[in-house]
Amino acid sequence: MSQPRRARAKALAVASEIYPLVKTGGLADVVGALPGALAREGVETRTLVPGYPAVMDKLEDAEPVHAYRALYGGPARLVAGRVGALDLIALDAPHLYSRPGNPYIGPDGADWPDNAIRFAALARAGADVALGVLKGWRPDLVHAHDWQAALLPAFLRYQDAARPATVVTVHNLAFQGQFPRDMLGALGLPPESFAIDGVEYYGAIGFLKAGLQLADAITTVSPSYALEIQSPEAGMGLDGLLRARAAALHGILNGVDTDVWNPKADPHIAAAYAAPNARAKQKNRAALRARLRLDDDPQALVLGVVSRLSWQKGLDLLLECLPTLFEENIQLALLGAGDADLEAAFRAAASSHPGRIGLFLGYDEQLAHLVQAGCDALLVPSRFEPCGLTQLCALRYGAVPVVARVGGLADTIVDANEMALAAGVATGLQFAAGSAARLAHALRRAAALHRDAPTWKALQANGMATDVSWDAPARHYADLYRALIRANASNRRVA
Ligand code: ADP
Repeated sequence: MSQPRRARAKALAVASEIYPLVKTGGLADVVGALPGALAREGVETRTLVPGYPAVMDKLEDAEPVHAYRALYGGPARLVAGRVGALDLIALDAPHLYSRPGNPYIGPDGADWPDNAIRFAALARAGADVALGVLKGWRPDLVHAHDWQAALLPAFLRYQDAARPATVVTVHNLAFQGQFPRDMLGALGLPPESFAIDGVEYYGAIGFLKAGLQLADAITTVSPSYALEIQSPEAGMGLDGLLRARAAALHGILNGVDTDVWNPKADPHIAAAYAAPNARAKQKNRAALRARLRLDDDPQALVLGVVSRLSWQKGLDLLLECLPTLFEENIQLALLGAGDADLEAAFRAAASSHPGRIGLFLGYDEQLAHLVQAGCDALLVPSRFEPCGLTQLCALRYGAVPVVARVGGLADTIVDANEMALAAGVATGLQFAAGSAARLAHALRRAAALHRDAPTWKALQANGMATDVSWDAPARHYADLYRALIRANASNRRVA
């Protein structure tokens, strides 16, 4: 590798979640795992996160590195410290973040009414770090994740000082952060920012829109999703902007943390294994069945689901396929939480079919590992899916993914069609997204393949041999970072 490519780069990541401190979904996994993988590519990352109680508790000995007399209505500080291998900067602003539980939602189940201010403050603090408020550390590049951090490029744009390069990553275009235009002043944005090439979005203020408009580059979490979001069907109002910025838009797949998701050494499963291993699978399946009160039926295929329960995830389609499950002797092991209607529907299905449908309705990180290790196949029937992580974990655990052919699911699973089976490269099954009939067909195909033990074992082996680590994605990010840093430096020289 040539010398300049390996020059060390300093990156500031800014995000509203980070595993293992605060997690509501895949965003936290990515933000928690990418720094370690980037370090191996010569990129040093510090990550700025809100100082929620779950963060501040872990940063007891953190060092204060900057103080704000007033930041959006109260005193605040930046504190720096390490949690495991993560180099964190927390925005300690009790008036904004000293609230337990979910980072976005209050005890009444509704978004916190001041979310615009809470995440504008995160972006503002990120911009301050970008512009050099920390003694002795200034990033070459800032990486803002999702709408909660996406105002950052706007704060950098409407000022005169030299700024680092900027990237915004869209983890899910469905979450955009839209707020009324009369908040412009309260958010600390100048009047000129309220323009079509600034933060204005259909007459309101769009946080994600601002980031997509103003960042040097945009990434999203799979090549297919990068294409899909440029279409009116999947663009959620932003497809025009994304088409206009297509040259700056990159699809980079997520990986999984292969230390956290490691069937060879996983404290949350019943038996460890390194390759398809019928005896270990049997033990893990038995533990999962016991946990979710599923019948001990040696012939049945256990179909796992680990998911938020929302329209996006398509699990209402699975409810339509219950007759197929029973006809094909498929047991369901579902770990999920979310929409009350879906939770109620699954609860009703489970009580009508005890022993055949096992549920845990809630969030349980450890059980997620046992589902992956104990199920035979893992279902991800999403209507849209930017990348999806559970199918990657499934590959690693020898659970055969059955996925909708959309976004990152389409990019990561090789369907067991005749050609792929003959070539020995199939890893799972795909079906057309959004159709219960196609899902039922895929479940019948899965059951048939499962009855063909050597073929099923080949699918498991191919899946377990697939590289789902962060190595390749981190290389892509590091290459992109370096290209942006170079371009930013030469723009500065021209200016
Ligand atoms: P999304 O971010 O849209 O929810 P992803 O597939 O990208 O979907 O990431 C979901 C992450 O959250 C995975 O790490 C998955 O294991 C985890 N997860 C989802 N639901 C649950 C749950 N109920 N309990 C434990 N972990 C869950």
